[in-house]
Amino acid sequence: MLYSAVARSYAALERITGRNEITNLLAQLLKSTPLEELPPLVYLTQGKLRPDYEGVELGLAEKLALRALASASGSEPARVYTAYVKHGDIGAAAEELLTNKGQGTLFSEALTLKRVYETLLKVARQGGSGSVEAKLRELASLLNDASPLEAKYIMRTITGELRLGVADYTVLDAAATAFLGGKDARPIIERAYNVHPDLGFVVASVASRGLAGVEEVKVEVGVPIRPMLAERLSSAQAIIEKMEGKVVAAEYKLDGERLQIHRDGDGVKLFSRRLEVVTSHYPDAVDLVREHVGAKKAILEAEVVAIDEDTGEYLPFQELMHRRRKHGIQQAMADYPVALNFFDILLAGASDLTGKPYSFRRRKLRQVVEETSRTRPVPSLSTSDPRDLEKFMEDAITDGCEGLVVKDPNSPYRAGAREFAWIKLKREYRSELTDTLDLVVIGAFHGRGRRAGSFGTFLLGTYDSARGVFTSVAKVGTGFSDEDLAKFPRLLKPYESHVRPPGVESKMVPDVWFRPHLVIEVIAAELTLSPIHTAATGRIRPESGISLRFPKFTGKIRDDKRPEDSTTVDEIVGMYQRQVKRVD
Ligand code: ATP
Repeated sequence: MLYSAVARSYAALERITGRNEITNLLAQLLKSTPLEELPPLVYLTQGKLRPDYEGVELGLAEKLALRALASASGSEPARVYTAYVKHGDIGAAAEELLTNKGQGTLFSEALTLKRVYETLLKVARQGGSGSVEAKLRELASLLNDASPLEAKYIMRTITGELRLGVADYTVLDAAATAFLGGKDARPIIERAYNVHPDLGFVVASVASRGLAGVEEVKVEVGVPIRPMLAERLSSAQAIIEKMEGKVVAAEYKLDGERLQIHRDGDGVKLFSRRLEVVTSHYPDAVDLVREHVGAKKAILEAEVVAIDEDTGEYLPFQELMHRRRKHGIQQAMADYPVALNFFDILLAGASDLTGKPYSFRRRKLRQVVEETSRTRPVPSLSTSDPRDLEKFMEDAITDGCEGLVVKDPNSPYRAGAREFAWIKLKREYRSELTDTLDLVVIGAFHGRGRRAGSFGTFLLGTYDSARGVFTSVAKVGTGFSDEDLAKFPRLLKPYESHVRPPGVESKMVPDVWFRPHLVIEVIAAELTLSPIHTAATGRIRPESGISLRFPKFTGKIRDDKRPEDSTTVDEIVGMYQRQVKRVD
């Protein structure tokens, strides 16, 4: 398949905004793609090269991308930079520069989808020192053979800025439309995607074997399952009411990192909440699983928590961050020991347990997890009495937990869903008006005084999942330690952008923009309507967005979350409405 056909479809996708239109166009594109090229097409259309959980990252730094463009277009770096700033988009800059260059008499080979994909994959996999020049050569050669329109999309892809507004679920709809004649089968395809979150694989399964192809998709050791998430309510009473007075299973909500543990014999793989492989951070957890889990083949979920070895007490989440390193892990293991608190089991032996009720899975968990000082099923209480829940909440807080997760004992494991089958109850809900929010750093303002030379405040965004964009929601300057202030510029540097990144909506203009990447946790006194911030514009009142009052950084960098996993606009609207109700 020629890449020009793909580029033309991208251009058409950009011109339309209606969800149905996007789905139909994408469905046509899928239909016209040969089976073996469907996975590459699907990954590329989402600006990726492989499913997220394989961790193949493209996102080339702005500087390198501009160099490749200069080389391919034969333009001076200053000219490339001017075009970039003028358009505010590296893709449009590439299109202009290559149009001006003209392909002339030079013979150039028509680009195929396969070549573009394989070159980008090669570039992404080239690591280590000295590889910059090699990457540049590969990219420049690709761009040399590209038409201006093709170059536009290649540049956006390599910088991680191809935002066509094609969400995962739109691709699933398009696959249903293209190969199953309509969207009715979407829930079945969606289930397959939630238990095997590789869109390329799922779309190719539908295309090759129809509905049967996706019905057969099973939970598999080694392929992470999209995590089930919790809704939030602010009191024990509200939770029992929501659960219609039924007996619930309340569990400690530990303040650590979520691990999805895949075990096959001695082989153990650990996935984070965002489904990245984090096995190397926790060699001790791997040993704990081998020694204290009684199922040789299993998928389990646990919260890994740093503990004080002498007292057995839980330590805050920040302590775990010392384990996120490439070198010196032996020392870090000795300095920051951990315990595993198991809270779910999704596969045991040959049995997929995701369809079983929670009470069944919990019993199974108790059977397979040995209780030791480092491993245990998370403490749990069955009750339908709000007073018992209150009391259990106090115990949880005293034991160093964040609060409770209250679960419906009859609920299956709903991969990828945030529903009221799990409800979290945190301490913050009671003293403050809102929950903590996980927000994306989209910009920063230079600091003054003690903060001169660093950033003083940060502009934060929230994810609008319906539109696939990040909207501004707050400016935060408090809660940062000196250590944080020293660290943030370094963490953010690779994502710096001289222009407002595509997919970011903000009326406020910071000194420096960042491509959405870093997620931080913030607490605030309340949510207010705001004419300045763009989050949820028009959802509560026309012309107004929602923003945070007195936001404060909690000290937690949520690198277990992708920017798309940050608190969404829909959640913020929900929190705002609940807050208003409480004030009434
Ligand atoms: P938060 O920001 O509150 O940690 P989140 O957005 O990461 O929430 P939620 O689904 O809202 O995810 O809350 C559930 C999280 O709580 C899980 O991802 C897990 O890491 C953690 N957790 C701790 N204890 C439990 C438990 N007993 N059952 C389920 N999740 C638990």
